[in-house]
Amino acid sequence: MSEPLPITGRTRLVGVMGWPVSHSKSPAMQNAGLRAAGIDGVYVAMAVEPSRLGEAVQGLRALGFVGCNVTIPHKAAAMEFMDLLTPAARLAGAVNTIRVEADGSLTGHNTDCEGAVRAVESDGTTIRGRTVAILGAGGAARGAAAGCALAGAARVIVLNRTVAKAREIVDQLRAAGATLGNVACEAHELEDLGRRTTIDWSAVDVVMQMTSVGMNSMGPMPMDAGLLAPHCHIFESIYSPPETTFLARCRSMGLRSTEGLSMLLEQGIASFEFWFETKPDRKAMREALGKQD
Ligand code: NAP
Repeated sequence: MSEPLPITGRTRLVGVMGWPVSHSKSPAMQNAGLRAAGIDGVYVAMAVEPSRLGEAVQGLRALGFVGCNVTIPHKAAAMEFMDLLTPAARLAGAVNTIRVEADGSLTGHNTDCEGAVRAVESDGTTIRGRTVAILGAGGAARGAAAGCALAGAARVIVLNRTVAKAREIVDQLRAAGATLGNVACEAHELEDLGRRTTIDWSAVDVVMQMTSVGMNSMGPMPMDAGLLAPHCHIFESIYSPPETTFLARCRSMGLRSTEGLSMLLEQGIASFEFWFETKPDRKAMREALGKQD
């Protein structure tokens, strides 16, 4: 256990708002980053009822916070309280990081987008120019799709059980086409473990598994890993359990893979950089998550 942070008269405040939030790994990770950077600051978990989100967000400026993370269920709702949204937040339709500017205005950003991309890139596959298949069309999938488009993916394919939600993401990416260098995007239904789509899986370079299938339980898989080409890089967003059945199957096939804790780490690092404009100590933050190299 590392030493608690000394709180002084100048301690700067950051934190995370969620409901519930007590399970969050972010306080351990971000406080380790603050400590390693020698910043006199503290990161706290704040349980905010959904009906009081507006009051809580306004309180950030009144209390002089540096900024704040926002997690489930507040990510979409937080948008309306921002004075400015970054392109990532606009495209993802969600805010997970708020910065209080010097004039008291609030900038809403989304580091989940960058987190998913950086997680894959830190394991050796650049997203620029690649064909990426996103499994799922919930909040995490939307962030990942936006992140891939912003990182210069050539093609983004969104597959979801409820295909209408996949189409919504694709429509939004197409609407922002000019900003994104006209990424090609398409929506498909995810059924029969991906076996019934017309996708040419041999052309898919990266699969981002963003459904909740396999969360907290071993067994079910979102797709048949046997469809994937040997060069395909798999990102599994779920980190509990640390290895889902899908991830285990992909690894046993020898596919390059990235685990969910990497995205948690990378979005946390990106948030730290957004608030403090300095690169945090990655090793300290990673160790606080209990993540292996
Ligand atoms: P969400 O908004 O509730 O979306 C859930 C997604 O899973 C939807 O696309 C849903 O499809 C799909 N799904 C659920 N049950 C299914 C089933 N039985 N068969 C096929 N598809 C199914 O959740 P979220 O916030 O996007 O989170 C999704 C996952 O990402 C979670 O496991 C979460 O732990 C993970 N995540 C990880 C990180 C990280 O830092 N590593 C960050 C955020 C989220 P329908 O639309 O058809 O219902």
